[in-house]
Amino acid sequence: MWLVTRRRSARKSIRRGNQRPPAAPRVRAPRPPAAPRSAPPALRADAALFLDVDGTLLDLTNDPAATRADAHMVALLSEIAERLHGALALVSGRSIARLDDLFAPLRLAVAGQHGIERRGADGRLHAGPPIDACLEAARLELEALTRTLPGLRLEDKGRSLALHFRQTPQWQTEAQAAVSSLVRRLGPEYHVQPGSMVFEIKARGHTKGTAIAAFCAEPPFVGRTPVFLGDDLTDLDGFNWVDAHGGLSVAVGDRVQARWHLPDPRAVRDWLQGLVAADAASAPQPL
Ligand SMILES: [Mg+2]
Repeated sequence: MWLVTRRRSARKSIRRGNQRPPAAPRVRAPRPPAAPRSAPPALRADAALFLDVDGTLLDLTNDPAATRADAHMVALLSEIAERLHGALALVSGRSIARLDDLFAPLRLAVAGQHGIERRGADGRLHAGPPIDACLEAARLELEALTRTLPGLRLEDKGRSLALHFRQTPQWQTEAQAAVSSLVRRLGPEYHVQPGSMVFEIKARGHTKGTAIAAFCAEPPFVGRTPVFLGDDLTDLDGFNWVDAHGGLSVAVGDRVQARWHLPDPRAVRDWLQGLVAADAASAPQPL
């Protein structure tokens, strides 16, 4: 119908004395093919493995404080760390103290609060004071906000403040406005880090990318192929760093894109299990 109308219109135009020929029909350029969403190649024993936690290793829950790592996951991480000669680190927005609780009794190399604090494979802690005093006013205001808007939850990590709205998505606009206003008052040294149903106030200069770079300059990570698995916006700096250094970036789920893809934490667990299974298969069999 559209084509017929257009032809009639063109004929009328010519009869009226307008000799300009009708415009050629537009040809829509073919869309480029969607980026491939392939599972990463098998984890190799010469990798330096970096793992986000929530939404990557463990399913997201409405209440992050209620998240638990089961005994099988703890045992699997312990075994992978051994296979990689210690070149395994958790890289998370949570604090190191919380991550140690979550995976007890395991104490891995770890970067917490998006790289603000870091513990190397040798156990040395690289971090400033546990509390950022500049955040005190913001802390009090956000606590008051959680009383005004029930369901918002403040996670005080000491040197960063995360305002979660997963249980009450209707407060997203209010949560974003509050943290944005506080960051403006804190000045240019701070910024808002958006995540999965959370807005976080943190100092600039620390990201998961800077944390992975610091690990990769130290034994036992140095000289190995960096591999990073993550699931949301806070992981993009890590993806960019490993991609730029010959490594593998792996997006878990559909919130962000990376070079490789796994659908969910269950698939991550299976993929990690592959290294253990391959190692067991290649081990000499008892006679
Ligand atoms: Mg995550």
